[in-house]
Amino acid sequence: MHTNVRNSHEKINLDELLVPNLSLASLSSINTGGSADLAAFPTDFSELRALLDYAKRYSLPITILGGMTNTLISDEGIEGLTIITSHLARRHVQGEMFCVRSGLALDRVIDFSLEAGLSGLELLGGIPGSVGGAIYGNAGANGMAISDLLYYVDYMTYDGKLHRKQAHSDEFSYRHSPFSGRKDIIIYEAGFRLNPTLHTSEAKKQKDEVKHKRKEKGHYENPSLGSIFSNPPEGYAGKFLEDCNLKGKKIGGAMISNKHCNFIINSDGKATSSDIHSLLLLMQEEVLKRTGVKLRPEIQFIGRW
Ligand SMILES: Cc1cc2nc3c(=O)[nH]c(=O)nc-3n(C[C@H](O)[C@H](O)[C@H](O)COP(=O)(O)OP(=O)(O)OC[C@H]3O[C@@H](n4cnc5c(N)ncnc54)[C@H](O)[C@@H]3O)c2cc1C
Repeated sequence: MHTNVRNSHEKINLDELLVPNLSLASLSSINTGGSADLAAFPTDFSELRALLDYAKRYSLPITILGGMTNTLISDEGIEGLTIITSHLARRHVQGEMFCVRSGLALDRVIDFSLEAGLSGLELLGGIPGSVGGAIYGNAGANGMAISDLLYYVDYMTYDGKLHRKQAHSDEFSYRHSPFSGRKDIIIYEAGFRLNPTLHTSEAKKQKDEVKHKRKEKGHYENPSLGSIFSNPPEGYAGKFLEDCNLKGKKIGGAMISNKHCNFIINSDGKATSSDIHSLLLLMQEEVLKRTGVKLRPEIQFIGRW
């Protein structure tokens, strides 16, 4: 396939954009996973559209990745074209609206909005990953979700058309957005309606505090994907796992964090995605056996599973 790919992207002049066999482990926050058969980091609308056109022409499946902080990438890699959004990183202010491209890191968005004299997103400080990934899964923390201040989302369908969706709160819920599970769109830009403030230093302090608390809890000490399971209606996933005495349990190089029972860490850098998957299944089984509660993964499985 690579020969075809090489010939054809030369023909459509995407040589600079298409990267064959891109190893993804070092880009993923848990440092595991195989390679993307073909990857690209578009920087704007026209590059994105050209890539979609290319994938359609050669019938390549498309995978979208942001910061890879919530995705377990198969050790066998990802088929087709993987579009990584990290270079879609522009931003601008329109009155009280802070408009950002989807690849910008959420934590940076908060800093930039405060620099622009707009506050509101501070409680999400320190959540790793991109704005697009956060909207896809309606990321949240400290009693707030990203959807709370979201005003619009521009997304592209795989036919290259751009659509604007007004964000309605009733379409978002805990770790769920209207985009969750969709495999036919790319979130391109989002607008947040924020609060003009003269007290940005106080807001910045609040953001730094929530980030510092994460640090204290050990969030950034080891490669991880954050919480593996979302909280079930019955309570906290971490509490169920803790009650099953699973702290420190290992499979291969994957280990349940001693600090946060809902985190799997790759502490010595030797874990594979398959180790992590096996440990996830064991956690799920143990909790089900002991409590009757079925935990559901919060993370996404990407590639050849
Ligand atoms: C240490 C740590 C702490 C964390 N704490 C929290 C927390 O407190 N709260 C929380 O909610 N999460 C948390 N997470 C999980 C993760 O950071 C968030 O879910 C984050 O928003 C994922 O963004 P991402 O760019 O990394 O998405 P990715 O992992 O790259 O992708 C996640 C999903 O979104 C899709 N996607 C990504 N970008 C786009 C796009 N532009 N268009 C369409 N689909 C897209 C992907 O296809 C995939 O299905 C934590 C993770 C870590 C490692």
